[in-house]
Amino acid sequence: MRIESASDALGIYISVPFCRAKCSFCNFASGVSSPATIERYVAMLCGEIDAAKKAAASLGADLPGSVGTVYFGGGTPSLLAPSQLREIFAALRRNFEVAGDAEITLESAPGQIADELLAEAMRLGVNRVSLGVQSFVDRESAAVGRLHTERECVREILRLRAAGLPEVGADLIAGLPYQTEESFAHSLEVASGVGLTHLSVYMLEVDEDSRLGREVLAGGQRFHAHGVPQEEIAATLYEQACAMLPQQGFAQYEISNFAAEEHQSRHNKKYWQRAPYMGFGLDAHSMLLRGVGAVRFANPEELADYRAAMPAEPTLVGVREAFEETVFLGLRMTEGISMQQLRSEFAEELVAPYEEAVRELVDEGLMLAEEDRWRLTLRGRLVSNEVFGHLLERLPG
Ligand code: SF4
Repeated sequence: MRIESASDALGIYISVPFCRAKCSFCNFASGVSSPATIERYVAMLCGEIDAAKKAAASLGADLPGSVGTVYFGGGTPSLLAPSQLREIFAALRRNFEVAGDAEITLESAPGQIADELLAEAMRLGVNRVSLGVQSFVDRESAAVGRLHTERECVREILRLRAAGLPEVGADLIAGLPYQTEESFAHSLEVASGVGLTHLSVYMLEVDEDSRLGREVLAGGQRFHAHGVPQEEIAATLYEQACAMLPQQGFAQYEISNFAAEEHQSRHNKKYWQRAPYMGFGLDAHSMLLRGVGAVRFANPEELADYRAAMPAEPTLVGVREAFEETVFLGLRMTEGISMQQLRSEFAEELVAPYEEAVRELVDEGLMLAEEDRWRLTLRGRLVSNEVFGHLLERLPG
């Protein structure tokens, strides 16, 4: 089964689900909380990190000895106080061996990383900041409740680079209210010319889990829902990013991610390559090796449940699930998956039906099958869920 060996470095995700304000499109488990709540949360988080080895052992899972990546996501983890960040790092370092060259990422929003916190974060080993910019167009940012302007975003990126951070990335969203091809081109131009090392471009998710999504689905006017472009326009914007960013030195290496090879996110690649990772905090997910298979588990999405320490039931990853994950996660990467590797790890009765389905998808222009690799085409990336659905149908029952 293609999961990296137990000796491979672990990826650690730390969830910090607190924000200064809730953006209308946000469907993450995050919100605005009091300083007392945040303080209590940090204590619980550290307790969970201290109990990690016991938790892994109780599931019969292997916990790699060293940690290769740490990712503080949220929420807006840069809103932590320096003392809180220190506490979390102390918990990490007394329980894990964090490699000297570990990639350590802190998510932030422009204007929401104070000088003192930045200095402390870098002293503790943070070498990568990922900024939730979403748009460099003020009208679009304001429409979804972002608290920054283009000028502030640019100033923030220059400040982080000047502070000596080797890696500074930003997220953009295609499909925000009032966005047009022209305005999105502006965001892409600024993003690719301001000194960032990594860019992520996501399509706006219209679902029941965000205020904006619910309003769009209901056909309403609140939260600028009437300004959300049609899905086809959002798809065109995404294609625009796929065409333009590689010309500016940001090669596309995953459906939503763009960077030169040396700046790719080592942490996120662990997810797509099925390397072991462990998540701590609200709604954090984990996958650890267990014998020849693996086990997945996740923390609750609600703060009250997390406080009550209610862990979800672990899911065992069998051979069939491992095969599906290898194909679907691998296809997210631009390099795709190696047929030879797939064959060396999985039985022919799993691989063969997929080969037939892939040939059909190649004929439809959604996939490429060449030089031993399966890959999605640009059109395939746009409708990846349908492609994965088509492949799933072929899996023997
Ligand atoms: S998008 Fe980011 S900053 Fe906005 S509410 Fe969600 S987690 Fe917080």
